[in-house]
Amino acid sequence: STADWQRADAAHFLHPFTDFQSLARKGSRIITRADNIYLWDSEGHKILDAMSGLWCVNVGYGQQALIDAATRQLRELPFYNAFFQTATPPPIELAELLCEVTPPQFNHVFFTGSGSEGNDTVVRMVRRYWDVLGQPQRQVIISRKNAYHGSTMAGASLGGMAAMHAQGGLPIPGIVHIEQPYWYALGRSMSRDDFGRVAARWLEDKILEVGPDKVAAFIGEPVQGAGGVIIPPETYWPEIQRICDQYGILLVSDEVICGFGRTGHWFGCERFGVRPDLMTFAKGVTSGYIPLGGVMVGDRVATVMIEQGGEFEHGYTYSGHPTACAVGVANIRLIRELGLVQHVRDTAGPHLAKLFETLKDHPLVGDAETCGLMGALLLVKNKVTGELFPDEVGIGMVCRGHCFGNGLIMRAVGNRMIMAPPLVMTTAQIDEMGSLIRRCLDLTLEQARR
Ligand code: PLP
Repeated sequence: STADWQRADAAHFLHPFTDFQSLARKGSRIITRADNIYLWDSEGHKILDAMSGLWCVNVGYGQQALIDAATRQLRELPFYNAFFQTATPPPIELAELLCEVTPPQFNHVFFTGSGSEGNDTVVRMVRRYWDVLGQPQRQVIISRKNAYHGSTMAGASLGGMAAMHAQGGLPIPGIVHIEQPYWYALGRSMSRDDFGRVAARWLEDKILEVGPDKVAAFIGEPVQGAGGVIIPPETYWPEIQRICDQYGILLVSDEVICGFGRTGHWFGCERFGVRPDLMTFAKGVTSGYIPLGGVMVGDRVATVMIEQGGEFEHGYTYSGHPTACAVGVANIRLIRELGLVQHVRDTAGPHLAKLFETLKDHPLVGDAETCGLMGALLLVKNKVTGELFPDEVGIGMVCRGHCFGNGLIMRAVGNRMIMAPPLVMTTAQIDEMGSLIRRCLDLTLEQARR
């Protein structure tokens, strides 16, 4: 029963990013089944999952092709490693497919078990690259405040979450941060385009401060996801590209959220017109059906690593896990068959954008933005002045609670309500979601006024 699960859960399961005392007091909501874009909990409630699990179930739940691929591979060869010059067919096939769907500079991939491991791999790889080129002093990686790049020591250090840095003595040496391109919070006195250029030049300032000969790479998510779906101005990424080119530093795009169609392009870097040297991915590569991540390695880095680098002393037991990779192959084929990237670009994305435009008339909504099938609503106390609710109101959490109680999963990041629904979502389902959102905003407003 639900009560039995909740009891055992609170007694033994240490959940990620969870206040253990609060979980023990309130109990977890137990999700037991899913289909398409809907979840059901152990009490039989149907819930529209506007977060795709955790930004990952791009093809939606219950896709038979993925289930069959996993089942077939588990029967045939559930696991064998890829160390020491052995291989199994699925990672070979997936590597080839990934090189087809990624931008042309990518012809190699290093597999990991997760996005965090992918970003750890990036740290080691970029430092190795400069080492091999005889520039071992190039160690520093520049990232951004409020970024999320994972939970391992290197991933959390690359990330710019102050609360994470406060635990465990982070960041590790050689990782520094600049401000994020969050126009509403940091640049509203300027046009979005002007602010985009100003925000990108914070990278140049940091490079000059650290010393251009010491900087190895810059890493960023095309759209900062867990930080609150911070969509940068159009001028931001082209200027970042110019600066990276000017100083010869490697550009890394963390595509863990933005990859595999989320932005209406295969990868977020393509949406913003940048040409990264490395790209981390996870989540959407298998639509979350099974864990898998990796790093796409562009020709600039791959050539040096392969021709001059010797053995790369790095790898995971599950680098190229055959069952995970078999699901990855089935998932990418399904994204192609269903035309999901085009669906997001031409149909679902514009429909979501229209819905968010209409939500701007709600008294609580101070700003509403989308990029493909991801979006954020900024909740404000006063639309006219832009005044925000004080932190102690916890307006996002209030709204999230109403969503939860009304059959909708959205996430709250401070005063931003964010979403990234499955890419298979139809326009009718977007309208259904719109009605739920409006109802939850009304309930939140009512509570805020009390
Ligand atoms: N990078 C980004 C942009 C992410 O959003 C995440 C997870 O949410 C990660 C990296 C870490 O991936 P994982 O949780 O698979 O380790």
